Amino acid sequence: MSFELVAFDMDGVLISCRSSWQLIHDELGTDNNEDLKAYIRGEIDDEEFIKRDVTKWMDKGIKTRSDLERILSKAPRTEGLLETISSLKGRVKTAIVSAGLDLIADQIARESGIEYVLANGLEVDDEGRLGGRGVVRVPLRDKGKPFIDLCELLGIDPKRAVAIGNSKFDVPMLKHAGLGISFNPIDEEIGRNSDVIVRGSMVGILPFISTTQQRRV
Ligand SMILES: [Mg+2]
Repeated sequence: MSFELVAFDMDGVLISCRSSWQLIHDELGTDNNEDLKAYIRGEIDDEEFIKRDVTKWMDKGIKTRSDLERILSKAPRTEGLLETISSLKGRVKTAIVSAGLDLIADQIARESGIEYVLANGLEVDDEGRLGGRGVVRVPLRDKGKPFIDLCELLGIDPKRAVAIGNSKFDVPMLKHAGLGISFNPIDEEIGRNSDVIVRGSMVGILPFISTTQQRRV
């Protein structure tokens, strides 16, 4: 089977920290542990979860999108990221499908050359001031649908797509993909639901991604 698209989760995959949301909480000394539990129990939805995060940040003096971009730019990039994307370039399409923040997903895409970004946003006005609400594009509990929508948009059969994730939240995406790769997995569920497990540098995924157009050196 040769592939036409590689879809990457971001948090813990393209950046080597657990969560882009958590990165901001850590920096500001806030936390969302109780809200995460409420979300997992199904008591609050994605919109409410994001709203609670943003409210906490705004209470700590965060006012604009660039305040957050400054914090997020510190996210540690995963070893081998640039090399991996440049090796895939021209052979397959590349995308980020992340329930993390688009503010960092866009940065990562720009610097690495990843072509498509599906991630969650924050409402801002014309001057970039936060409104307090989120823009949900990738529900944390259902990454399957945005992944399928992306494949459809690109005219690619999901079976010709590779999905790469590190946690149980990526399972719905991996299930639809022709090849599911666990990358530095943090729980057993993702490992059980993937075809391949890769640990360490991201270049380790390359041998598993066959394409019709081979790379010319
Ligand atoms: Mg992740």
